[in-house]
Amino acid sequence: MSITVGRLMGVPVRVHLTCILALALLSYIIGRGFVYSVEEGLSLPWAIVIGGVIAVMLYGCLLAHECGHVAVASRRGVKTSAIVLSALGGEAKLIRDTATWSDELGIALAGPAVSLTLAIVSAVPLLLFEQSAIITTVAFYLAFANGVLAVMNLLPGYPLDGGRAVRAVLWRAIGDRARAARIATGAGKAVGGLMAAYGALQLVGVDWNGVWFVGLGWYIADAAAREWERERVRTMLVHSQAVDVVTAPSGAAMYSQTVDAGENAWEVVERMGALNDDGAVAVADRDGVVGLIEKRELPGLLASRLRTAH
Ligand SMILES: [Zn+2]
Repeated sequence: MSITVGRLMGVPVRVHLTCILALALLSYIIGRGFVYSVEEGLSLPWAIVIGGVIAVMLYGCLLAHECGHVAVASRRGVKTSAIVLSALGGEAKLIRDTATWSDELGIALAGPAVSLTLAIVSAVPLLLFEQSAIITTVAFYLAFANGVLAVMNLLPGYPLDGGRAVRAVLWRAIGDRARAARIATGAGKAVGGLMAAYGALQLVGVDWNGVWFVGLGWYIADAAAREWERERVRTMLVHSQAVDVVTAPSGAAMYSQTVDAGENAWEVVERMGALNDDGAVAVADRDGVVGLIEKRELPGLLASRLRTAH
């Protein structure tokens, strides 16, 4: 559930509903836990308002981080379908896989580079203004948060930027994209698992920050597992043809488009991600439609192929 709030660099920016919840929570946590404790003489409601301003600026920084990815991706010919902001952070959804390890590395590191730059720029008011000024409170928090953002994103597990960088470097070192992905997504599952375990420990100690770590850890581990699944499917299909992944005989269902029987199966499967759940494409050769690929049936077919591939 997300709404499009505008476009940046031609890419739609979508805000997930959890993002609004996170803004409200962050306003309180930053306002009460940080601003209120360092700003003497400030009332609690005002501290929470300033906390809200910092929370909004923080999401602006997150957006800038994603724009870093988008800018390098577009320079390397990879389009982005959307930037999505949620309670767990931001994500730039690239339309297709990167073709080379250097594209992968450049795109991965661009985000943390932006965050690191923002951390340094945010620290400038600390040198210019007196410690007591409210602007230094805001600046300190933004410098700190952007620094944490850069470091956390550089943890070496996919789907974090650091994990993508590891995948790129291994891809270069061993010359095998799938094996590199296996290691990077394995590390992602480990990083996610450790984060969730840390969160669970916090919850045992009645520290509610644990909820966020459990959620983020679970999200990272799950995304790593799904990416590894996707990579295995890719490896299986990249040398197959569309006709090899037909799920039903012709005439069995409606279809929105027709693909050539000899078209690359992986590219067809990737494109089908944009279809509705009940969508299908027809596979045709010179004599007409030879079968259909139904989106709903595809995961089952691919899963059984993966099982028999072992
Ligand atoms: Zn990033």
